[in-house]
Amino acid sequence: MIKQYMSAMGVKEEQYQHGDFEVNTPIDGTVIGKITLDSVDEVNKKIQNAQAAFKEWRVVPAPKRGELIRLLGEVLREHKEDLGMLVSFEAGKIKQEGLGEVQEMIDICDFAVGVSRQLYGLTIASERPGHHMRETWHPLGVIGVISAFNFPVAVWSWNTALAIVCGNPVIWKPSEKAPLVALACQAMFEKALAKFGDAPDHLSQVILGKTDIGNAMVENKDIALVSATGSTRMGRTVGPKVAERFGKCLLELGGNNAMILAPTADLDLALRGIIFSAVGTAGQRCTTLRRLFVHESVKEDILPRIKSAYGTVSIGHPLEGNLVGPLIDEDSFNNMQSTLNKAREAGGIVTGGERVLADKYPDAYYVTPAIVEFDEQNDVARSETFAPILYVMTYKDFDEAIEMQNDVPQGLSSCIFTNDLREAETFLSDRGSDCGIANVNIGTSGAEIGGAFGGEKETGGGRESGSDAWKAYMRRQTNTINYSTELPLAQGISFG
Ligand code: NAD
Repeated sequence: MIKQYMSAMGVKEEQYQHGDFEVNTPIDGTVIGKITLDSVDEVNKKIQNAQAAFKEWRVVPAPKRGELIRLLGEVLREHKEDLGMLVSFEAGKIKQEGLGEVQEMIDICDFAVGVSRQLYGLTIASERPGHHMRETWHPLGVIGVISAFNFPVAVWSWNTALAIVCGNPVIWKPSEKAPLVALACQAMFEKALAKFGDAPDHLSQVILGKTDIGNAMVENKDIALVSATGSTRMGRTVGPKVAERFGKCLLELGGNNAMILAPTADLDLALRGIIFSAVGTAGQRCTTLRRLFVHESVKEDILPRIKSAYGTVSIGHPLEGNLVGPLIDEDSFNNMQSTLNKAREAGGIVTGGERVLADKYPDAYYVTPAIVEFDEQNDVARSETFAPILYVMTYKDFDEAIEMQNDVPQGLSSCIFTNDLREAETFLSDRGSDCGIANVNIGTSGAEIGGAFGGEKETGGGRESGSDAWKAYMRRQTNTINYSTELPLAQGISFG
């Protein structure tokens, strides 16, 4: 099924057909790969190798490091379709979303090439005569990347493109639910290296395994930065462990994203925004729209339209023209059902959420996206269930809507649909949304790479991708240079 894509990208059959760990496709549950997982000793060895690579790579001029990422972008362009298809097979994304994810990788490569010539520091005015100060940025060390199943390749590229131009090697532990794409990305990185020529070995490495293997990286003091994407549960374990050894952490964790639908909103536009954000990727995006706060004056108008649009969304094989593919696995389906039961117990009116296509795909889990109407926000709506469930609640007063939208533990993405300038600007102001991402007249999902991506509170506080996110992969140094013949002390202190 996947052989043609794997071989086009340079992955050898023995790498994914001869191990004892089975990889299933969520499309129909069949085994598409058999891999060998790493041991903790192997992980530690790879980290040592990466340390050696760091010593060489950090002194290569940054624009030259950028050239490697430019070449990676070229290889990705060449294999956009191959990798996109593999993402569909392994993560169950529809074709457009698989391709979109690879495009995001290409975009971040382009961005990082530019960054490689813009690792700017500062010059700072010194208070002392004959002195100047500056701030410089240096490579940080080995970067460990832990990624989730739902953006199985983009997250690697966000980290890797920037880490490499910033002078660091990368070790990647992909999700155990999507390890094959990691073999493909590594093969393409090696293609780029072959074109690049003189680079140290072990600049990019993959480690395959579950939590124990991720943990081996988390606990290893030679990993300077652990960039971990996944559930808040994972971050709660990883964050303190890295902090205990004074390592750095970049956490990209769960979201519970909301839309405020105001009385002046363009409802046609909002409807499209709601459908894409709530049901795209079968509700398995960290930025999926999960809570909708509708002004009481528009509820009667919009809710039937949302329900009728939900009824027309085609669900099925992600490569056969459908808009919604499968959930990742049975656990995910069970979680969804258990949340819907809790929602009913809490008085919610549930529409949808049933399993479909079970006869055709007994070992895969396709569901109709669910809508839950609640009178008010409760703990069911406050937690993230990684499935297509949209909680709909009404509001009367705009300030109350902002309060409800912020009244969750997570702080990733948020948006408002309004044509009222005051509401829009208030939503974006310091008393508005408390999320890392706040949008106006556009949904919660589908971010571009140019902005910094990430969120507050239990989302972890990390920022990846655009803007100055590159700084997470470097260490900052403050320099004071004295070019005078005196040695004046700061703050005018006289010493002896
Ligand atoms: P998950 O937490 O189950 O797993 C994510 C990764 O962490 C996997 O590679 C897993 O093996 C590893 N892991 C888990 N526990 C670990 C531990 N104790 N030590 C080391 N590694 C550990 O998440 P998932 O089910 O793959 O993905 C869904 C979750 O990820 C959702 O909560 C979603 O919101 C979140 N997510 C967040 C972002 C973001 O940018 N904020 C992006 C994608 C997904």
